[in-house]
Amino acid sequence: MFCGKIHEVFNIIGGKLTRFRIEVRGIVQGVGFRPFVHRLVGRHKLAGWVRNSSGGAELELEGEEPELRGFLRELRDEAPPLAVIESVECRELSGAGGYEGFRIIGSDRGESMRTLVSPDVGICQDCLRELLDPSDRRYRYPFINCTNCGPRFTIIRSVPYDRAFTSMAEFPMCPDCAAEFADIENRRYHAQPDCCPVCGPRTFFMDAEGRRLPGDGIEAARRLIKGGGILCVKGLGGMHLACLAENEEAVRELRRRKHRDEKPFAVMCRDLDCARRLCEVSEAEARALSSFRRPIVLLDKRSRGELMHLSENNALGVMLPYTPLHVLLFGDDLDCLVMTSANLSDTPIVYKNAEALEKLRGLADGFLLHDREILTRCDDSLLRVYEGRDYPVRRSRGYVPYPITIKGLRPGMLSCGAEQKAGFCLSKEGHAFPSQHIGDLKNLETLDCYEEQLRHFAKLFDFEPVAVACDMHPDYLSTEVAERIAAERHIPLLRVQHHHAHMVSCMADNGLEGECLGLVWDGTGYGPDGTIWGAELLAGGARGFRRLGTMRPIPLPGGDAATKEIWRTAEALRYEAGLENNNGTIKKLLERGLNCPKSSGMGRLFDGVCALAGIRAECSYEGQGAVLLEAAADAGERGEYECAFYGEGGVTVFDWRPMVRQIASGGEAPGTVAAKFMNTLVSMAAAQCRSAAEQTGLRRVVLSGGVFQNMYLMARLPERLRAEGFEVFTHSRVSPNDEGVALGQLMILEAEYVSGGTA
Ligand code: ZN
Ligand code: ZN
Ligand code: FE
Repeated sequence: MFCGKIHEVFNIIGGKLTRFRIEVRGIVQGVGFRPFVHRLVGRHKLAGWVRNSSGGAELELEGEEPELRGFLRELRDEAPPLAVIESVECRELSGAGGYEGFRIIGSDRGESMRTLVSPDVGICQDCLRELLDPSDRRYRYPFINCTNCGPRFTIIRSVPYDRAFTSMAEFPMCPDCAAEFADIENRRYHAQPDCCPVCGPRTFFMDAEGRRLPGDGIEAARRLIKGGGILCVKGLGGMHLACLAENEEAVRELRRRKHRDEKPFAVMCRDLDCARRLCEVSEAEARALSSFRRPIVLLDKRSRGELMHLSENNALGVMLPYTPLHVLLFGDDLDCLVMTSANLSDTPIVYKNAEALEKLRGLADGFLLHDREILTRCDDSLLRVYEGRDYPVRRSRGYVPYPITIKGLRPGMLSCGAEQKAGFCLSKEGHAFPSQHIGDLKNLETLDCYEEQLRHFAKLFDFEPVAVACDMHPDYLSTEVAERIAAERHIPLLRVQHHHAHMVSCMADNGLEGECLGLVWDGTGYGPDGTIWGAELLAGGARGFRRLGTMRPIPLPGGDAATKEIWRTAEALRYEAGLENNNGTIKKLLERGLNCPKSSGMGRLFDGVCALAGIRAECSYEGQGAVLLEAAADAGERGEYECAFYGEGGVTVFDWRPMVRQIASGGEAPGTVAAKFMNTLVSMAAAQCRSAAEQTGLRRVVLSGGVFQNMYLMARLPERLRAEGFEVFTHSRVSPNDEGVALGQLMILEAEYVSGGTA
């Protein structure tokens, strides 16, 4: 993939050049880039050398000018799929090089090799063809891979990335594989996990009683699925539980066993055609689905109200097979399987064979396992396609541990993220490395996994923190980890306000510097005043922020209980708006202010309105109120409710009380209420931004926070702000939800560190 510019190249070789130096910046190591260069050089009869450098690769080449021109064009157009070329710079060298042919030489600094490790890569077209070719020696071999595909991050024990330091170490290559590995013309040249049926790992099937069946087990697994059973199948970064998606009874049984009553399941479709039968698939979505990263893509169902046993909202998470084993599991006759992470509510994904057989006993009716060990857990990534780009929800397999390039970023920064969607981030020169999705740290096993990954990343990237950042929330377990690291290493610790971090995360995501406005809507975050924030309009940048807008806080009767029993929040809205309450006990709590912590979290307003609209009184998973409200909304509804504000200490506060009175008195259909409510929020945001722009002169707005996973809002709010003359920026490299917070913390830490505040 080429995403940058070739600087001045053609001007420079416009003359009589015969020799020059080329610097390629980007991700070009361990992705088959040097063999690719070798092939191009042969094609154009050039001489010289190539070597890895800290920023990518360097070359010196000598040859005839038209050939050099062709080389550069092909370097750009035919780069290997896993390479990310950010720029190519070219400079003339005087005199003859005296090269003897073309050589691949050692790195300029051995250390630089450590900076980049490839993520896991979905099966490529070449391997897929061989997999299904009866004359190929890897016909139906579930571990076929090459330089362009296969496991990477999840099988690496330590660096350098070399078979000996992966879980392939226990499978010595047979002579045939070794010959391919050593041949620069071969598409398996230096493919560390290369293997075949003679020398590589094997699959096997274990039944529910733990008895191992003879053979590769694939047919047994297919029989189980076709019979309506639930299969545990080992993937790249962990185990999945799979069953036939169209078999409602099997899906219901899976929900029952997993204690997952309503939360949507993702499915794996055999191919794009199958995905198109279930959902609308745009060109950009088709590209995302089939990219080597093979994420789960949230697609709009063909029609509302369908496939409700899989997903209760208008979208369905769909992915395509990404390992050869998945392809064989589908065979010729399966179309669509539920594929859900094998774990018990909120614990990390199960990834070891023994662990699967023990913990998933009773959950799975059979196990399709293999003897290549997964060394690092990595869940499936989840994204939307928004305005033609990735809009990440969960950045994990296929992405991690690729860095996010941030010009000038200094090394040694570590940020510990939030808590419920935990993830850390560390920096090397010019690169931020976010961890994979880790989960909710309140679970002890997840916390262990978080700390283990911190150590693993530090080792992989040869990382020593010089400063550490965490959330301002005193009780987050990630805060505790950060405090411990700071104390042990005697390095400075910076506590970053949650929504400030969200905002700066979106700025970094878009490469914005200086100051801008940040509209940050989420469920909950600790404010510097000790109250809960979450519907914020901030102004500022990495160096600091001011709060310019928020919403009237909602008292939550019973505290945390109100996030599940959202009817409590609806009662609070009624009470505050001066309406009659339906529940006397709750009314008393509110009157006395007993156990009623106040929250300005936008997520809570969604909960309350969801219950007020009669859509749902209780939630079974986090964010369900907002999900159901979005699903219910009547897309054609243009109306809105009264949008009131009051000022408080220089902050424009959205007053939802008039809106609540209108909703309560209206007798409108739930779909109308949902749409009018969100339309009101769009107007509210526009009014707050207008007023903030008058005060600050800032016209750039970044949108961040979990609420912006709501596509009803995303289809309307940016458009509205643009119409009012704002420049709007949304996420495309990290998630708007709390997973993305670590990147913002990192940038704020760096700014503080540079200015000497933490030193
Ligand atoms: Zn391949
Ligand atoms: Zn072999
Ligand atoms: Fe948040």
